[in-house]
Formats: sequence, C-alpha cells, structure tokens
Amino acid sequence: MITIEDFTIMAIGFVAPLEGEISCCPVCGRNGIVKRTETEEPRCIHAEATEVFGDGTRTEPTDCCRLSS
Ligand SMILES: [Zn+2]
Repeated sequence: MITIEDFTIMAIGFVAPLEGEISCCPVCGRNGIVKRTETEEPRCIHAEATEVFGDGTRTEPTDCCRLSS
C-alpha cells in the first residue's frame, strides 16, 4: 500500500510526526520539510510516497527542491 503525503498543503509551523516541521521552501516558496543528512545535500521535501512492506516502510520523495547551501 502506498500513501502520498503532500506537505505543501500543511500549515507552516505544523510538525508532522517523524518528519519534521513545515517551513517555507527558499527555492520555490511552497511549504515543505527541510531534511538534512550527513551524506546528502539538504533538500526541502514537498511530497513523499510511503510504501508499507511486511518488514517495514520505505519513503521516497516524489517532489522536492535541492537547497544549495
Ligand atoms: Zn521547493
């Protein structure tokens, strides 16, 4: 089963469980969640698909902006 979460329709300041806080994307101006990891460039996620398997879940961003700094 795949569920799509659209962060652009969530209010700024809203905290999505396990995901983070909604903020305004500096690239496109839509709402999203900024994710920073040690291995990848920071990205602002606008929508993501979560697929549920028997042994866990896998989350793939379907719409995101790459932040340059
Ligand atoms: Zn954006």
